[in-house]
Amino acid sequence: MQGKKINKENLKKFFAEITSQYTVIAPMKKGDKDFIYGETDTFEDVCLEYPTTITPIKKYLLPYKEKMFSFERGKMREEIPEEKLALFGLHICDINAIARLDMVLWNDPAYKARRENMLIIGVSCTPNDKCFCKSVHANVLPNICDVFLMQHEKDYIAYSHTEKGRKLLNSFLFEHTNIEIKEIKVEYNEQKHIDIHRVGERILKDYENPVWAETAKRCLGCANCTVVCPLCYCYDVVDNTYVHTDEGERVRCWDSCLLLNFARVAGGHNFRKDLKARYRNVYTHKFRTFVDEFGVPSCVGCGRCITFCPAGIDMRETLGKLGGA
Ligand code: SF4
Ligand code: SF4
Repeated sequence: MQGKKINKENLKKFFAEITSQYTVIAPMKKGDKDFIYGETDTFEDVCLEYPTTITPIKKYLLPYKEKMFSFERGKMREEIPEEKLALFGLHICDINAIARLDMVLWNDPAYKARRENMLIIGVSCTPNDKCFCKSVHANVLPNICDVFLMQHEKDYIAYSHTEKGRKLLNSFLFEHTNIEIKEIKVEYNEQKHIDIHRVGERILKDYENPVWAETAKRCLGCANCTVVCPLCYCYDVVDNTYVHTDEGERVRCWDSCLLLNFARVAGGHNFRKDLKARYRNVYTHKFRTFVDEFGVPSCVGCGRCITFCPAGIDMRETLGKLGGA
């Protein structure tokens, strides 16, 4: 891949070009030390050097709450979003999260419409002590990224994996260089490397491992970890009908398999009443059944669940006790 150079002044102009065609979502500072993804058309709001965001990028692909369709006198109207979103300044782990969400949700009409209209612009990162993207094979840039900006001294070298991105790099704002690269990846020494294949092999055989009960004792069952996770995509569906029962709408909103009511079925039976079973279910899905179906874990090692757990639970320790250490 041939790189093209862009300086900070031209990056600002490039950003303005993007905002003229797309609604831009980018990392921004919130308060003294936190960062979020939010909507902006002002380059000065954007922070391209950030550790990670609190809000996961899934918020813009699978909104917290959305109407799926409405119906009236036998006629159904599907809600297909038309907005054009540009996700600007994503780290490689979050771009991998989108690539993995694509595997699950591509046939969902609203998700697909959003993704087909979307522009993805990535930026290089400096991993922190909570990151483990290498262990979960999410440190290599996937081919869905339209433009990737790699910091190079005071400037950026831009690369593209898509036709849409290559067209953007033809702009006069980007200068030709002789810099070539085979693949874009984050290389660093992980604080705790996890053997994710060993975890996957053992997790079902080791069903009664004491780690589940130990962790459930500390866990508050708040589901914070699944809310901030860019790859937890469970949602609940509610049908609302109005005065006339032939009028109504179907709405979905985020849910979490860590919450008590998630596995409650008609008649009141709950398949995962205790927290130990719910906690085990999260890990089994992320590191075994998702891998069986898609070949990669439903985790990109972004570390959000570790950073934002109020009980200080570190997923890497649990995975270590399951044979991953
Ligand atoms: S954020 Fe921590 S305390 Fe809350 S459910 Fe997740 S593991 Fe449990
Ligand atoms: S499980 Fe934790 S580390 Fe993995 S993607 Fe979700 S929030 Fe990030």
